[in-house]
Amino acid sequence: MSVNRKRRKIIKAGATTLLLGSSASVFFTGKEEKKLTNVKSEQHSPVVTVIESDPAEQDFAVQDNLRKVKYFNQTFSDDFFLSKEKYGIFKQVLSKILRVQKTVGYANFNLVSFDDMILYSHRYPNIGKFSKKELALIDELFFYDANEYGFYGNKVIKDLTSKINKKETVKIAGSGHYLFQGEALEKFKQLKKDVGPELILTSGVRSVVKQFQLFLAKLDASNGNLSLASRSLAPPGHSYHGIGDFDVGKKGYGTLNFTAEFSHTEEYKKLIQLKYIDLRYTKENQTGVRYEPWHIKVV
Ligand SMILES: [Zn+2]
Repeated sequence: MSVNRKRRKIIKAGATTLLLGSSASVFFTGKEEKKLTNVKSEQHSPVVTVIESDPAEQDFAVQDNLRKVKYFNQTFSDDFFLSKEKYGIFKQVLSKILRVQKTVGYANFNLVSFDDMILYSHRYPNIGKFSKKELALIDELFFYDANEYGFYGNKVIKDLTSKINKKETVKIAGSGHYLFQGEALEKFKQLKKDVGPELILTSGVRSVVKQFQLFLAKLDASNGNLSLASRSLAPPGHSYHGIGDFDVGKKGYGTLNFTAEFSHTEEYKKLIQLKYIDLRYTKENQTGVRYEPWHIKVV
């Protein structure tokens, strides 16, 4: 298969020009005629597989991927967008998910399953029931092959309704987050002991629904650009937070903990010196995800 080089050129002007510059065709479904359909995702190796033989083409794909990882918050000419119709439904889905979060509380929401969410939406009139179209979109987003829009990580949770057993988790005091008992908890305790009290948990266990909330919020901020959103956040079902990984940060560092700034802190330097941490998303990764120096690999 050959690569269409023209489509892979960086749009230097960024999202605003691309999205607002052209009128009606603003939200197109990437390779336009393709509709979001239920394509069952499979395990994919985190390597670009579009190119089979030509080394020059292969090199181009690798470089193209690295460029996208580096400029993760920019729009590229072959980025994949929600269609205009689906964008409207998506906005309703996001606001309902946020109302579920508000109702159950920030920490509890990390463990909310799809079935829990539906239950809450029936029980609390302030949330409102999900319509058929909204449920269909949730389904499509979950089962759509993320490779199509440039995310090459593994699908670690294949069941939309998978549940997290609360008994297998521990709430970490003062963090608003949970960790799985066993390896994840032990690793966090060890990190804290070795790095110091300034090291905090910034995100732990995330259910499929929590990952939906994060991914859809990013999708909202990127005007429906699925590719751009997936360069910062694993699409639902693809996050290792669902099975053990967690994020750490520096106390009082706020949202800077989720930027490359974290790699300039003493805490990060200690994490590296101690060598026992294994970063999931390095600078040179080929999964289509930005550099994440705060993400601790457990699984
Ligand atoms: Zn993470």
